[in-house]
Formats: sequence, C-alpha cells, structure tokens
Amino acid sequence: MALKLHNTLTRQKAEFEPIDPSNVRMYVCGPTVYDYAHIGNARPVIVFDVLFRLLRQIYGPQHVTYVRNITDVDDKINARAARDYPNLPLNEAIRKVTEATEKQFHADISALGVLPPTFEPRATEYIHRDDGREDMVSLIETLVDRGHAYVAENHVLFDVESMPDYGRLSNRSLDEMEAGARVEVAPYKKGPMDFVLWKPAKPGEPAWPSPSGIDVPGRPGWHIECSAMAGALLGPVFDIHGGGIDLTFPHHENEIAQSRCAHETSVMANVWLHNGFLQVEGEKMSKSLGNFVTIHELLVAGWPGEVLRLNMLRTHYRQPIDWTQAGLEESRKILTHWFSREEIDTSDHANVPHDFLDALKDDLNTPKAIAELHGYASSKDFKSLGAALGFLGFDGETLRAAEQRLAETAHSLASSVEPLIAARLEARKRKDFAESDRIRDELAQMGIALKDTKNKETGEIETTWELTR
Ligand code: AMP
Ligand code: ZN
Repeated sequence: MALKLHNTLTRQKAEFEPIDPSNVRMYVCGPTVYDYAHIGNARPVIVFDVLFRLLRQIYGPQHVTYVRNITDVDDKINARAARDYPNLPLNEAIRKVTEATEKQFHADISALGVLPPTFEPRATEYIHRDDGREDMVSLIETLVDRGHAYVAENHVLFDVESMPDYGRLSNRSLDEMEAGARVEVAPYKKGPMDFVLWKPAKPGEPAWPSPSGIDVPGRPGWHIECSAMAGALLGPVFDIHGGGIDLTFPHHENEIAQSRCAHETSVMANVWLHNGFLQVEGEKMSKSLGNFVTIHELLVAGWPGEVLRLNMLRTHYRQPIDWTQAGLEESRKILTHWFSREEIDTSDHANVPHDFLDALKDDLNTPKAIAELHGYASSKDFKSLGAALGFLGFDGETLRAAEQRLAETAHSLASSVEPLIAARLEARKRKDFAESDRIRDELAQMGIALKDTKNKETGEIETTWELTR
C-alpha cells in the first residue's frame, strides 16, 4: 500500500508522491525556547517523529531530510530573560534562558523516544548568513524588490493584497479575514492584515543590521524565520510541512505567502499536515486554570517516557486528544503487559508485517497500528514493530524500573493524603465546615480531587481520592 496523507491545503487524503524519492524533505515548526515544553507541545514532536520513522522505513534512512527548528528570538524570550535575570545585561540573560530551555527540551523529548531531526537550525543563525544560504534579510529584500513588501517607520510589512490567493491554506478570503479582524491596526500598515517581516528593536534588545532602506538595527518577525530556515535547508519547494492545527493561521499562511512570493512558486510545500489539539481532563490547558502540564513534571512524577508516547499515539493525530490520568494508567497497563514477558526477543529484526505498516501508511493511523501490535505481542517481530512506532531499545528493564518508581510515588502520596482526608471527615462530623473546606482546598492545591459517597449499609460518608494532574 502507498503512503496516504491528509493535506490541509486540499482538505483531502491523497497518495503521497515525493518530489525526489532520493531526498524526501519535511519541515516542522519547533519550540520557542523560553519555558518548559508542555504536553501539548510534545504532540507534534511525537507525531512527526512517527512520520519521520515511517518515511525512513519506506524511502531508506539516508533519503529523508527532516528539519525542526528552534525559535530563539521572540518577545516572550525577552520578557522571561528580564524577569529571571534582572541584574544581567539582556543579551546575556537571553542566552541563559534559551540555552537552558533548549537543553531541557532535548532531555524531555529524548525520554519520549524522539529521534533527532536531520537539521535543527536556530532562528538567530539564519538572520544574516555569509555562506550563501538563504537568510531572513535577503528574503525580506527580495520581497520588497518584487513588490510584495514595503518599508514603513523602520518596519517591513508584507502586503497581503499583492498575493491573489492569500488565505488558501486556512480557506478564508482576505475580505472575510478583514471583516473578522480584531487586530489593532498600526497606522503605518497599508492593509489591516499586512504582517510584520522586520521590526525595529527596542533599546537593549537583541538587534541585527536591518534590510536595506532601514538605518536602525532591528529583528525579524516570527513567520519569516521558518521561511528562511526551510528555504535554506530544503529549497524553495519541498514535500511536507507540519505543525499543530493552531499554526495554520496566521503562521503557516504567512510562511506560504513569504516563500511563494519570494521564490515565485505555486506552493511552498506540497503537503501540509496539522495535528489536533491536546486538552487536559476535558479542559483547555492554561496556566490560569492550574492544569498546565509539562513533559518534565510528568517524567519527574514517575511516568516513563514510553507511557507518555503510547498515550499520545493511541489517538489519531488529527483528532483532538483529552489527556487524562485514566488514559495514562491505561497506557501504562498496556506497556506493562507487552513487556511483562521474560522471553521478549531483543534481537533486531528488519521484518515489519504489512498489516501493521499499512495502518501507519493510512494517514498515520497509530490507534490501528497499536491494535495490530497487540496481535503480535508474542511474536518475534514484536520488537521491530515497536521500533517502527518509536518504542526503541526497549528491553522491559526501563519499564520495570519506572514501574517501581511509580509505585513508590503513589505510596508516598497516599501517606500524605490519607491523614488529611481523615482530618477532613473528623471536621465534618464536628460540623466545622470551614476547616473541612480548607482541607479540601489544600488537597486540591496538591492536585487531589475528592469524592464523597454514603455507605448504604452504615450511612457513613466515605471519601475516595484521585490525582487530577
Ligand atoms: P509553540 O511553542 O507554542 O509555538 O508551540 C510549539 C508546537 O506545539 C506547535 O506546533 C504548536 O502547534 C504545538 N502545540 C501547542 N499547544 C498545543 C496543544 N495544546 N495541543 C497540540 N499541539 C500544541
Ligand atoms: Zn513555522
């Protein structure tokens, strides 16, 4: 069976035909490095790692180029650096933030069994280049020369009116966008949807020599970064571009506008793939709701990376995913079952059965592939099947050690939670509801939810608890 992928650009699933089968090229937008990656950020990293592995399986490991960038210039980075290192010069503080975050990101995702991409460019290395590769400033100058961008008050803006089919990826016309726009329109913009390619730097901020026509130093906008890195490493037109569904508009729409207008091509990438969003226990993940879950804290809480990976892949990548404690428990049970057999064959096999591979080739149907995997649990092919999904080098030992850690964590949690529950029940009996509510809130702060039920026989209230994050 041929590989089929769902293309956001055509809104259809179609057979994938690489431009050059000896060099299949894929670009995925990577993290902005200012804070721990959350479990939502892990989704595109894992999903596109599965696609990378599948492409390597089909075309050969030497014939796939995968680029996943690091965004290391951004307002959020500057703000975090100023907050965390108020006594350092901003540039130094920024370096500290980006280096530490990038290191943490790599540690987190390698625990999730993610292969390094072929190239992992940093945005700041592609602002100006002297090796002839495409860079942001030359791209911007080309766009100005071709009449697709204009300089205004030390900014360079992309003129969306200059591109007749702007909006094709997100399937919206410019008129519709303008009608729905809630963006505050800067006075120097010609049109409300025109977006920034370059802006002047504020004093003390990192800054680079600007494109011609601007005398003050500045810095690039977010969208131009990906156009330059993709162009430099994959060429003007490549096979696959991926990212989370939230990036479709404006980020990917604007990447397309920049790259196509600069290179005068009809597409930037042939296939656009977007993963669905992740929410936590039925709610949107946000810092203010207190349900913001990082990869790091899940690992520290004792969840093996393999369990997190399996939990992610049990939902098809295009569907929304609800990340729950119950789902994690179930994924852990599945893995424990798979790896509980002492006789697991750890020698390498190249044999990946067709039914399993066909599931993956059908727009990365990982839930189906996992169902197939169950059927092979006692076969000698099990390890190569697991490897195709990224459960690599797994000998059962890692999981057993992690199981033990998890059991210990659960034990120590129970020993701090249970006395509090008993104290709360006591308080309720004395009708000291202020105290019982206070204890419940204290437990909620620890991520513990309580459930009271009446025992039918004794009439007593009984309380059970669960960890909600
Ligand atoms: P960011 O650092 O916010 O630019 O996000 C990095 C990647 O994570 C992008 O591909 C986003 O689309 C993706 N992403 C962010 N939040 C979520 C989420 N809750 N669910 C799935 N993907 C997400
Ligand atoms: Zn991007």
